[in-house]
Amino acid sequence: MKKFKLEFSYVDGTNPENFKNAIQDNTKLFWIETPTNPLLKLTDIETVVSFAKEKNIIVAVDNTFATPYIQQPLDLGADIVMHSASKYLGGHCDVIGGALIVKDDELANKLHFNQYAVGGMLAPFESWLLMRGMKTLHLRMERHSMNAMKIAEYLETVDIVDRVYCPGLDGSKVPNNMKMPGGMVSFSINADVETVKKFTMSTKLFILAESLGGVESLMNHPAFMTHASIPQEIREKAGVTDGLIRLSVGIEHIDDLLIDLRMAFAAISETVKQA
Ligand SMILES: *Cc1c(COP(=O)(O)O)cnc(C)c1O
Repeated sequence: MKKFKLEFSYVDGTNPENFKNAIQDNTKLFWIETPTNPLLKLTDIETVVSFAKEKNIIVAVDNTFATPYIQQPLDLGADIVMHSASKYLGGHCDVIGGALIVKDDELANKLHFNQYAVGGMLAPFESWLLMRGMKTLHLRMERHSMNAMKIAEYLETVDIVDRVYCPGLDGSKVPNNMKMPGGMVSFSINADVETVKKFTMSTKLFILAESLGGVESLMNHPAFMTHASIPQEIREKAGVTDGLIRLSVGIEHIDDLLIDLRMAFAAISETVKQA
């Protein structure tokens, strides 16, 4: 986007003040991602919106991880909500699509003109898949969240796991008007890269693949997959270490998922003992 003379600053959204401090004369838009991918950090949308309104800055929220069932940024004052519909909205990892939702008619018309002119249209079959998927969004999110919380609690008991990331895990309320934690859990394994890779190859239900938000559980190794293009130093500074694993927890039976993870930890436990 720099080609179009757009400039960006990146801030840590866990402290909303960082947005305020980053405002420059030419600031037009705040772009919030909450929870973030892959560390599931949260941003207090309402506070960021309050800073934006003082300066007529538009607030857009990437609500892909939370979905509209769990978090509704327009009600918190945001101007634009963005979804990767390829994820939870579709819910079956079989469609690629996206959506922008706005309150203001004038803004809607501007965005629609761009969509129309550029040609970002969903084909009829994909539209149908998406509509069909969304009919079960509420049921899926309840189950994703329940399974994810149980898995996060289990991971906290595993010796070799040194960090577990899941909104609301520490028993605190889930902030930001998030109704529930959602289906994403990340954790880091305290072992060498080869052992971590062996772990990612040792599950049967959690499939090692990119994308997320489908009914089946997926595992992702960000440093080598989704976030491999980020320079190592920046990646590690942000907490995306070589030991970090991201789970998209599906809607399978929780016992099956827990056994799958236990067996994968057992598969690496010998290696870890020897080291
Ligand atoms: C996947 C994803 C995107 C990009 O969406 P695509 O449908 O893959 O183009 C953007 N934001 C978040 C949070 C995502 O998970």
